[in-house]
Amino acid sequence: MEEKANPEEEKNIRSLNFIEEIIEEDIRKGTNEGRVHTRFPPEPNGYLHIGHAKSICLNFGLAKKYNGKTNLRFDDTNPVKEDVEYVDSIMEDVKWLGFDWEDRLFFASDYFEELYAYAVILIRKGKAYVCDMTAEEISETRGTPTRPGKESPFRSRSVEENLDLFSRMRNSEFPDGTRVLRAKIDMGSPNMHMRDPVLYRILHAHHHRTGDQWCIYPMYDFAHGQSDSIERITHSICTLEFEVHRPLYEWFIREIGIYAPRQIEFARLNVTYTVMSKRKLLELVRDGNVTGWDDPRMPTICGLRRRGFTPESIRNFANTIGVAKRDNVIDVSLLEFCIREDLNKRANRIMAVLNPVKVILDNYPDDLVEEMESVNNPEDESKGKRKMPFSKTLFIERDDFMEDPPNKFFRLAPGREVRLKAAYIIRCESVVKDAETGEIEEIHCTYDPQTKSGMPESNRKVKGTLHWVSEKHAVKAEVRLYDRLFTNENPDDAEEGKTYKDYLNPDSLRIITAMVEPAVSLAAVLDKFQFERTGYFSVDKDSTPQHLVLNRVVPLRDSWSKGEKVK
Ligand code: ATP
Ligand code: MG
Repeated sequence: MEEKANPEEEKNIRSLNFIEEIIEEDIRKGTNEGRVHTRFPPEPNGYLHIGHAKSICLNFGLAKKYNGKTNLRFDDTNPVKEDVEYVDSIMEDVKWLGFDWEDRLFFASDYFEELYAYAVILIRKGKAYVCDMTAEEISETRGTPTRPGKESPFRSRSVEENLDLFSRMRNSEFPDGTRVLRAKIDMGSPNMHMRDPVLYRILHAHHHRTGDQWCIYPMYDFAHGQSDSIERITHSICTLEFEVHRPLYEWFIREIGIYAPRQIEFARLNVTYTVMSKRKLLELVRDGNVTGWDDPRMPTICGLRRRGFTPESIRNFANTIGVAKRDNVIDVSLLEFCIREDLNKRANRIMAVLNPVKVILDNYPDDLVEEMESVNNPEDESKGKRKMPFSKTLFIERDDFMEDPPNKFFRLAPGREVRLKAAYIIRCESVVKDAETGEIEEIHCTYDPQTKSGMPESNRKVKGTLHWVSEKHAVKAEVRLYDRLFTNENPDDAEEGKTYKDYLNPDSLRIITAMVEPAVSLAAVLDKFQFERTGYFSVDKDSTPQHLVLNRVVPLRDSWSKGEKVK
């Protein structure tokens, strides 16, 4: 299933999405005195990805639109998988995306005491019990969607015994896995989540915030809805898989007798040619398939940032795709469209030759250096102009020359003329080849001094315009050309006997040495450029003034959708 949105259309229509409709209806009815309060609730067990970015833009965006508030809350109920490293990275990424939770930073672990008290309320009402079955036994007696489960033999324990056992669980009297607290709901419910779900488990594990204070931890399902309630969230927006959990969340809220947020589900974002589950992203990192969470090929926010994506482009992407009620897959070329559109306005143009071949202007004075002037960004006059050194020996792209070209080839060839951008018209006179390999080593040309760019007599027209750099002024740069991480549109949908890893693209990173305009050597990490005619590039964090490293954000055109490989 693929859903393609036309970004231009989307911008013009701007009708309410189904979540906005619900919120506006609630405001009209005066529900919660018209308050809108959302939250973004990540579990700190991995880095955020583009799917989370969608959720962040949605939650913070709704609050902004309806003059409300958004909390950042870490759902940190599983100490075994969670870590402060993730907490820090998540905060950094949300801020970088341009959102501010102000003083509303919360942790589910801050509510452990309240959650414990809620569990005690349920026990007192006869709605929860301590069960001594093992995890396997609980799972075996759960039944199937079509066959009811079997009631636990411990289901009829007295309130007093349950209160006693639960407090002793908390007091570390029992080893891990020996007992759990379960809700007493309905083992015959068609909804599996209502079949006496586990609320608390014993886990002697160190928590990144509460340390060794607790040896029982609430299950995610027992923490999430109540945390929303404690924070008086009005609209608790989550992804579709939680729709079936909703009756359980509502049961908890009702039985405990606390404020009820309204849960609204939307379809999670999937993007072609990548995987989005944190478990798989962690595997890619651990197994060394990528260099880290911030590898520029990763769909993580830090990966996209390092690659050269801007917060604006990601926000624009999130708004363009909208919110859906059914699962769908968004074409990654839409994300690439958004960054191209943004960098077109933002990035200064630069001359850079990715695959250089030498051009020698035989009639140009040996030691002359001219300063050629060019606009930094034709889309933005305020960016001004810059000067580029021009001299007798230059580099152009190897594939801008053909010895025996077809008619439609408007670039350089023997006897043909092209303009060197912001410089002169040149004409190819001869080539020098390597005697053994036959590879072209030098292209000898003449230049026409009457055709200097910007001069009144320079109006002579030729069909092709090429970018170039002056050999003695050019700076070498390591350029990392990225391609899609997977060769399959949907790597999660692996054929039998294969896994998503079988679709890793062996050519997802190609490193070349390019010759770039000297101005680039002054650039800072994350500075972005459009290399004339080839693409958008961003300075990598590995870059130093002695060794420039640039990442290709995207090629200039979407050559993938035309079926060609990027050169
Ligand atoms: P995973 O299943 O990969 O571990 P998760 O959904 O459990 O991801 P959380 O940290 O719980 O990750 O997610 C925080 C918030 O981001 C949740 O509200 C979740 O619904 C939302 N979210 C996660 N993935 C996506 C996605 N692909 N599209 C939209 N929202 C998402
Ligand atoms: Mg989750």
